[in-house]
Amino acid sequence: MLNVTFHGVRGSTPCHCDETRHFGGNTSCVSLRADDEIPIIFDLGTGLRYFGKQVNGTPNFHAVCLLTHLHYDHTMGLPFFEPLLRGDTIFEIYAPKQPDGRSVKELFLEKIKPPMFPVPLEQFAARLVFHEVGDDDFTVGNMQVRSRYVPHVGPTLGFRVSHAGVAVTYLSDHQQPAGADFSLTDGARALCEDADLLIHDSQFTDAEFEAKSSWGHSTFAYARWVAETCRVKQLALFHHDPSRSDASLSSIAESVAAASSVDVFAAREGQTVDVVTCSA
Ligand SMILES: [Zn+2]
Ligand SMILES: [Zn+2]
Repeated sequence: MLNVTFHGVRGSTPCHCDETRHFGGNTSCVSLRADDEIPIIFDLGTGLRYFGKQVNGTPNFHAVCLLTHLHYDHTMGLPFFEPLLRGDTIFEIYAPKQPDGRSVKELFLEKIKPPMFPVPLEQFAARLVFHEVGDDDFTVGNMQVRSRYVPHVGPTLGFRVSHAGVAVTYLSDHQQPAGADFSLTDGARALCEDADLLIHDSQFTDAEFEAKSSWGHSTFAYARWVAETCRVKQLALFHHDPSRSDASLSSIAESVAAASSVDVFAAREGQTVDVVTCSA
């Protein structure tokens, strides 16, 4: 069994108001845990702060982040992750190789320092270890990880984590192809096929996508198509637009679920899902 908790489900920018309170306003961060395994964290959005509060104080804390890309909404939680203040913490970050040859570590060190942030990242007490990956397969403890480049804006990965016959796929930011015909890259297909849970970008409605078709994201309809085409068991609609109200999101998710052959829900901050395989 894999235990998945959503700490941040919003795309683009954090948001906070009465209209977004139910689904939550923190940006992308999802933790995945299996018994006796190192915790895996998908992305470092502002939701990371809340995961940090849950685990802060754990001696010799060791976790692994699978980072899809370097956009602010996926990285701005890092300097607020309280375990980084402890000298016995090890935090490993797997991130996409950059085409210009600059290392991911260098880019983080450039971003998290004065005058943009009061404390330079290298002064945090924890040991930070960066790994750069592309289309790769590797292991974290006894968990198998598959990383594949997916279409977005800039180098971006999707991930699939498998453990004890259960597979969870995380495709937070995914550019839907322009035009009426849906298709899927080989890399994205290799991540999604037969997954037990697919967490997928669903930022836009069809009407919104018409005006924002090159912004790097997907519609609810495309997320559903990917899930059905790849025969996933469960689809979590994710990376909600910051302007999407709870009422609107609930109603859209309900209609997607009613029309789909896959079990569908809109991811909500604080929600935990136990993922088991139907074929076990
Ligand atoms: Zn994003
Ligand atoms: Zn992005």
